[in-house]
Amino acid sequence: MAYDHNNVFAKILRGDLPCKQVYDDVFAFAMHDIAPAAPTHILVLPKGPYESFADFMAGASKGEVFGFFAAVAKIAAQHNATPDFRLITNNGALAGQTVPHFHVHILGGAPMGALLP
Ligand code: 5GP
Repeated sequence: MAYDHNNVFAKILRGDLPCKQVYDDVFAFAMHDIAPAAPTHILVLPKGPYESFADFMAGASKGEVFGFFAAVAKIAAQHNATPDFRLITNNGALAGQTVPHFHVHILGGAPMGALLP
């Protein structure tokens, strides 16, 4: 499916919508989730137009992939309220993906509990 340039994260990356920014570099942008599910809930997005994790891994260069996940590690180390954290990416609607721009959730700051309800 073609990338939707009008999805909400594309608009945030273009500066058309506001957000609580946490981090920005050549490969990644991070912000606080608008509806946090934990004391720390940060979303990390690649800069390129990738719809999902699978799309990112199929289409991104090695530099983009490494740059993105290096940024995730840095953000988790520097901006989480606790040393421990959970990483989640929902790949596709069945998995719970609601915004069609690949993103990783960093969750932390409290005991995480079971993965599924
Ligand atoms: P998904 O369900 O696609 O894995 O995650 C989408 C996440 O984006 C949700 O946790 C939701 O709360 C968050 N979200 C949706 N719209 C916005 C927005 O406009 N700004 C921010 N910062 N987060 C958003």
